[in-house]
Amino acid sequence: MLDKKVVELLNQQVNKEFYSAYLYLDFSNYYYDQGLDGFGNWYKIQAQEERDHAMLFIEYLQKNGERVSLEAIDRPSAALTGAKAVLNEGLQHERYVTGLIHAIYDAAHSVKDFRTMQFLDWFVKEQGEEETNAENLVKRFELFGDDPKSLYMLDNELGSRTYSAPSLVL
Ligand code: MG
Repeated sequence: MLDKKVVELLNQQVNKEFYSAYLYLDFSNYYYDQGLDGFGNWYKIQAQEERDHAMLFIEYLQKNGERVSLEAIDRPSAALTGAKAVLNEGLQHERYVTGLIHAIYDAAHSVKDFRTMQFLDWFVKEQGEEETNAENLVKRFELFGDDPKSLYMLDNELGSRTYSAPSLVL
């Protein structure tokens, strides 16, 4: 049986991951609306990944005999004020999510819940990658975003991203 506080945090994380999917879908819609279909594609796939993360937390709770409680998902709150501003919102959000994952890890560690710590190891690593990806997008937009030809090429590149399921199998 898992610790009550750990279960509560894992259950909250289900909601946070679905919120992330919702937020990135909002980003995706914004970029498609702006004619930046490659950026739209990038964030549409990002939204799919976040939904996968939510499912992994659900499966983990279920495999440990816990009941999952689905809560209401908030309306995406980021101000979509420009192509670069949205990328920055994405970076801030990933840093926030890293903090959430670390807080669950901390709770699991404090009750010697090694199983949950091992489950979360994948997410700790994943968050490192997500932050790097988000930072790179901001950096590259700063370098190329003001030049239409370069922006076109960057958009094309992001348009080639394809979805692949997460590497974590429970
Ligand atoms: Mg996630």
